[in-house]
Amino acid sequence: MNVNQSAPPVPPFGQPQPIYPGYHQSSYGGQPGSAAPPTPYGAYNGPVPGYQQTPHQGVSRAPPSSGAPPVSTAQVPGGQAAYGQFGQGDVQNGPSSTVQMQRLSGSQPFGSPLAPVVSQPAVLQPYGPPPTSAQVTAQLAGMQLSGAVAPAPPTSGMGYGPPTSLASASGSFPNSSSYGSYPQGQAPPLSQAQGHPGAQPPQRSAPPLPSSFTPPASGGPRMPSMTGPLLPGQSFGGLPVSQPNHVSSPPQALPPGPQMTGPPGPPPPPMHSPPQSGYQLQQNGSFGPARGPQPSYGSPYPGAPNFGSQPGPPQPLPPKRLDPDAIPSPIQVIEDDRNNRGSEPFITGVRGQVPPLVTTNFVVKDQGNASPRYIRCTSYNIPCTSDMAKQAQVPLAAVIKPLARLPPEEAAPYVVDHGESGPLRCNRCKAYMCPFMQFIEGGRRFQCCFCSCINDVPPQYFQHLDHTGKRVDAYDRPELSLGSYEFLATVDYCKNNKFPSPPAFIFMIDVSYNAIRTGLVRLLCEELKSLLDYLPREGGAEVSAIRVGFVTYNKVLHFYNVKSSLAQPQMMVVSDVADMFVPLLDGFLVNVNESRAVITSLLDQIPEMFVDTRETETVFAPVIQAGMEALKAAECPGKLFVFHTSLPIAEAPGKLKNRDDRKLINTDKEKTLFQPQTGAYQTLAKECVAQGCCVDLFLFPNQYVDVATLSVVPQLTGGSVYKYTCFQVENDQERFLSDLRRDIQKVVGFDAVMRVRTSTGIRAVDFFGAFYMSNTTDVELAGLDGDKTVTVEFKHDDRLNEESGALLQCALLYTSCGGQRRLRIHNLALNCCTQLADLYRNCETDTLINYMAKFAYRGVLNSPVKTVRDTLITQCAQILACYRKNCASPSSAGQLILPECMKLLPVYLNCVLKSDVLQPGAEVTTDDRAYVRQLVTSMDVAETNVFFYPHLLPLTKSPVESTTEPPAVRASEERLSNGDIYLLENGLNLFLWVGASVQQGVVQSLFNVSSFSQITSGLSVLPVLDNPLSKKVRGLIDSLRAQRPRYMKLIVVKQEDKLEMLFKHFLVEDKSLSGGASYVDFLCHMHKEIRQLLS
Ligand SMILES: [Zn+2]
Repeated sequence: MNVNQSAPPVPPFGQPQPIYPGYHQSSYGGQPGSAAPPTPYGAYNGPVPGYQQTPHQGVSRAPPSSGAPPVSTAQVPGGQAAYGQFGQGDVQNGPSSTVQMQRLSGSQPFGSPLAPVVSQPAVLQPYGPPPTSAQVTAQLAGMQLSGAVAPAPPTSGMGYGPPTSLASASGSFPNSSSYGSYPQGQAPPLSQAQGHPGAQPPQRSAPPLPSSFTPPASGGPRMPSMTGPLLPGQSFGGLPVSQPNHVSSPPQALPPGPQMTGPPGPPPPPMHSPPQSGYQLQQNGSFGPARGPQPSYGSPYPGAPNFGSQPGPPQPLPPKRLDPDAIPSPIQVIEDDRNNRGSEPFITGVRGQVPPLVTTNFVVKDQGNASPRYIRCTSYNIPCTSDMAKQAQVPLAAVIKPLARLPPEEAAPYVVDHGESGPLRCNRCKAYMCPFMQFIEGGRRFQCCFCSCINDVPPQYFQHLDHTGKRVDAYDRPELSLGSYEFLATVDYCKNNKFPSPPAFIFMIDVSYNAIRTGLVRLLCEELKSLLDYLPREGGAEVSAIRVGFVTYNKVLHFYNVKSSLAQPQMMVVSDVADMFVPLLDGFLVNVNESRAVITSLLDQIPEMFVDTRETETVFAPVIQAGMEALKAAECPGKLFVFHTSLPIAEAPGKLKNRDDRKLINTDKEKTLFQPQTGAYQTLAKECVAQGCCVDLFLFPNQYVDVATLSVVPQLTGGSVYKYTCFQVENDQERFLSDLRRDIQKVVGFDAVMRVRTSTGIRAVDFFGAFYMSNTTDVELAGLDGDKTVTVEFKHDDRLNEESGALLQCALLYTSCGGQRRLRIHNLALNCCTQLADLYRNCETDTLINYMAKFAYRGVLNSPVKTVRDTLITQCAQILACYRKNCASPSSAGQLILPECMKLLPVYLNCVLKSDVLQPGAEVTTDDRAYVRQLVTSMDVAETNVFFYPHLLPLTKSPVESTTEPPAVRASEERLSNGDIYLLENGLNLFLWVGASVQQGVVQSLFNVSSFSQITSGLSVLPVLDNPLSKKVRGLIDSLRAQRPRYMKLIVVKQEDKLEMLFKHFLVEDKSLSGGASYVDFLCHMHKEIRQLLS
C-alpha cells in the first residue's frame, strides 16, 4: 500500500490518545526491556499458501475500472392489474392465463450460472408515454458511459434476460396516484424498446449497433435464438470470480471474448470508454426464466426506440399487467450467486472484493482481510471524495460482527501473545499492528497505514525485510499476514489495572402469580439443573470458569446463599426495593460443580415455595440493580438472565404504567410508543455498562408490558430480549427452552469496548446496535455475543486516494468467558474510486438494507413513521437516479434502469417499508413493534435479509428422494400452488402452508390423517412418522432452525383457513393488509420518483 505518499500528515483521530478511556494504556513505544517472547502463538503454521500471490494489496489489485457498471433492466408495463388475489395466483396449477403464459417455467436459457452477479441490464420501462426524443437526447447528454451496459438485445419481453427491458405500459403512471394503487388496466402497449443501447444513442430505427458488438447481438432480432450470442455470461461462466460485478478489475481475468471491444487494459477516459468486455451483454437470467417469444412482448413499443428489424409477432394489444417474472427476482439472484460463487473459497487477499451473498454457502480463506462473516460493507469501492459520495447517496457502512461464530471448516482467530510488552501499536493513532503496516529502513521502523506516522520497531520485534520490503517472518505472524487475529491484552488493558475475575451468570426469576400459574417457574428450574453443566468454557477448558447466582422476585427480592458447605440453600429477602443492596456476598456467586447439591436443592424448592402465591405485582429496575450490585461486589463482569412476566407496577424505582395507545399510530406522537416512558432505565443501563453487566431479558407477557421501556437495559448492555406472548408450557416450552439453552451456552465477550479506526480520509461517524456510547468513538458493550452486530457508518473528512484505498480496523477489547483480557482485531481494505460506476458495481444490497433498516428503525424514535418512510424512499430514489444519470447507458426516460448490484434494492426496500415497525397492521401490538425494532438493531446481514424477505420453500415439488433443499419461490401468493405444501421462514416465524388440493397420500404421510379437512390448523408439531416425506420435511425444519439464532415455532396453516391471514402477512411481494404496496406497485412508484429527480 502506498500509504506513505498519499496520506496526509494529520491522523484522523488527531492526537494520540488512549483509546479506551478509563483503561490505562501502555504506550508501546519503546519498551526495550521486555524481551519478545518467541512466537507465542502456537498453532499458527507459517505462510498461508497462496498468499504470496498477492503480497501487496495495492499491487495485486487490478486497475480500477471506470466503465459503466452493469445494469439491470427490467421493464414494467404500466398498468398492471391488481394481482395477488388468490384466485389469480394459483398459476402453477391451473390453466394458464395470460400471465401464466408469460411465466416461465422451465429452464432458462440464460442460465444463471453464467453470469454471476453480473451485470444486468435491466430496464424497467415506461410507465408513461414513451419518451420523446427530446427526453432521450437530454438523457444522453448526461451520460458518460456505455460500455458496461449490456447492449441489450432489443427485445424485451422475450425473456431476454437481463438486459431486458420490458416495455411497459404507456401512460399508466398516474402522477397523482399513490403507489399503492395504480390504476389498473391501463395497458400499455408493450414492447420493448431496446434494452440497452450500449454506447450508442438510442435509436429509433434500428441502427446498427456499435461495431464493438458482435453481430448477433447487434442486429437484434428478438428471437429466442438471439439469446445465444447474448450469453456472454457463458463465456465467462467459468470465471465467476472475475466477474465484473464483484471485482473491480475483471477485464484482465476475462478471456477476450468476441464481444470484447476495447483493450483489456485500464479503461480509457470515461466519456469514451468502450464497453468492457466483462460488462457487455451479460445477463444472469435474473429476470426470470427465459421465455420463448411471446406475442405480447414481441412487437416494438410504439414510439419507443427499438431495433426495428425485429421479427417479433405483432403485438397483442390488450392491456397487460406487469409481468412479475420480468422484474428482478430475489430468488433468481440468490440462486445465481449460489451457482456462481458457492463452489470456490472466498480468498480475502485482494483489496475491495465483494464477497458472495449471505445466502450462499462458501468457505473463507483469510489472506489478509477480515472474513465477510466478521465485516460486510455496503460498498467495497468507495468514492474518493465526499462530493461524489453525496451525489450517489449510497451510505458507506460496515456491518461488523466481531465475535461471529464460524463454520467448523474455518479456524478461529489465532491468539498472539506478545508478553509483557503487549500488542504493537502506532504511537499516534494507536492502531494495532496489521498486514498493511509498511516496514521501512531495513525493518527498523514502520509507517502506520492509518495515520502515516513513522514508528520505531521495538528491538524484540525487529526482523529483516526481503527484497520486496516484506518482513521475512510475515507469514509466521498472524498480525502481519491475516485479516483477523487476537492479542492477549496486558494488565494495562484491564479495569483498575487488575486482571479481571471470571464472569458470573445470575438467574433472576419472577415468581409472581402469572409466572407460577403458567408453569414457567417449574419448567425453568427443572431445565437449569442440567443446563448449568453447559456454561461457556474457554478454549479447551474442562469446566467453565463462570460462577452462578440465583434471585427470585415479585414485589420484593429473594437472594439465595448456595455455598457448597451448606446443607440447604438459605433465602434472604430484601423488601426495601428503593435502595437495593445485596444482602450476602459469600455464598451468592458459586462454582456450579462445588455447590451442585445445594443448587439442585434450591431449584427443586423454588417452584414449591411460591406455588400458592397470590402476588401479582412485580418490580423490574430493582432486579437489575441487584444483579449489577452483586457483580460489582464480586468485582467481576457477567450476565443477568431475567425471566419476567408483567408490567412492573409495584411501587419501586422504574415503576411503569400502562401507556399503550394505538390511537397514536400514524400521528406525530407515534414515536412515543417506541420511547421509554422513564429515563430511569437509561441511567441504570449506564451503571450496568460500567460494571460489565450484560442483561438478557426473557419476557412472558399476557398483555402489554412496555417492551420499549423494559428492553432499554438489554439494548444498551449488549443483551438480548426474547418474548413469549401468552406463554403456555405445552405450546411454548420447546421454543423457550431451545432459546434458553442456546443463550446460556453461547460464547460471550464481557466488559467490551470496540473502536473502529480508519485510514485518513474517512471516519466512523455513526453506530447502530445494542451497546452504549459515552463518547463519539468508543462502542461500549457490557456483553457481546457471536450473534450481535454493530453497524458503523462512515463519512469522508478528506479526499481518498485510488492508489492507497481505504482501510478499516475494528479492535474489540473484551474479557473472555474464561476471564482472559483479549483484543480481537479485524482489518479490511477497500478500494476507492473516482468513477461513480465503480461504486455502483461494488455495492452489496443486502448490507445496504441492513443499514437502511437500522437507520429507519432508529428514526422512529424521533420522527413520525411516515417521515421515516419517505426519507428512505427518497434516498433510494436518489441512489438509483444518480446511477441512471451518471452510469447507465443512454436510454429512454421511460426505462427504469437499475444497477446490477442493486437491482433488488426496490423489492427489499419495500419490505422494510411495510414491516411492522414502519407500517403496522391491525393485529400488530405496540409491544411487538418495539420488540422487532430492537431485534433488528443487532441483526447481521443474513438475518435482515431473510427477516425482510422470507424464504418460501416448496416441499412437494421435488422428488422425496432428493437430498437438496428445494429452490425457494418468490414470496407471493401467486407462486403458491394449491396442490403443494410450502415452508415459509423469516428467522423468527416458521409456517407450513398446506394447499387445499394436496394429494391425500401426502397428507397422510405428513400429518397422519386421511384428508385435508382433518389437518389441525395451527398445529405446531408434525407427527413423527416413519416415511420418507415426513422425515424429509422434519429434517428440513430442523436444519432451518439450526441456522437461525432463535428457535422458530412451527405453525401449520391450511389454505383458506383463518390463520392464513397471518401467513399472508409474510408474502411480501404482495400488497399487504396494512396498506403496504406490492412489489410491482412499489417499483412503479420508485420509477416515478427517479424520473422526477432526473427531470
Ligand atoms: Zn497511526
